[in-house]
Amino acid sequence: MRKDAIEVVQGDITRQAIDAVVNAANTSLLGGGGVDGAIHRAAGPELLAECRTLGGCPTGEAKVTRGYRLPAQWVIHTVGPVWRGGKDGEDKLLASCYRRSLEVAVQTGVRSVAFPAISTGIYGFPLERATRIAVREVRAFLEANPGLEKVVFVCFDRLTFNCYEQALAEIS
Ligand code: ADP
Repeated sequence: MRKDAIEVVQGDITRQAIDAVVNAANTSLLGGGGVDGAIHRAAGPELLAECRTLGGCPTGEAKVTRGYRLPAQWVIHTVGPVWRGGKDGEDKLLASCYRRSLEVAVQTGVRSVAFPAISTGIYGFPLERATRIAVREVRAFLEANPGLEKVVFVCFDRLTFNCYEQALAEIS
């Protein structure tokens, strides 16, 4: 078990010195609120210009751009599901976001990736449920992909940080 390959930190994902940061984007990929807005502000207008060439992104999928003025070289844009009560495939779609983001990372040659807590802000996905899915998917992916060295869960607040710590302790 590569337990040391996963880190949890509290902070701002736009400040992470890492190969790639994941953006919790929307299907347009043209920017939004929350972490999406923060990433676009920190990366600068070139990020939006590249995003315009991508033609959007379906929910559960991921697409990569450069990071421009971010410390991270790459941004992997993924679209989390909007929470609609849990019977609309939300769990599977969220799992797919983590898996597809990491697949795109490996295809890009990235060795370290930082994730925000996808869908748990404006999209309303229950936090504990989301962090368990995130930890399960990332663990499974790391086991199967030794080329990926590090995954960091970047938590904007203490509650999210505590949820990840709990999920990491519970899920083997
Ligand atoms: P979604 O629309 O997928 O729910 P949000 O951006 O609203 O995306 O929220 C996702 C998570 O990202 C929330 O936990 C939110 O607190 C967090 N977040 C917002 N800004 C940042 C940031 N700069 N760095 C890291 N996490 C952030």
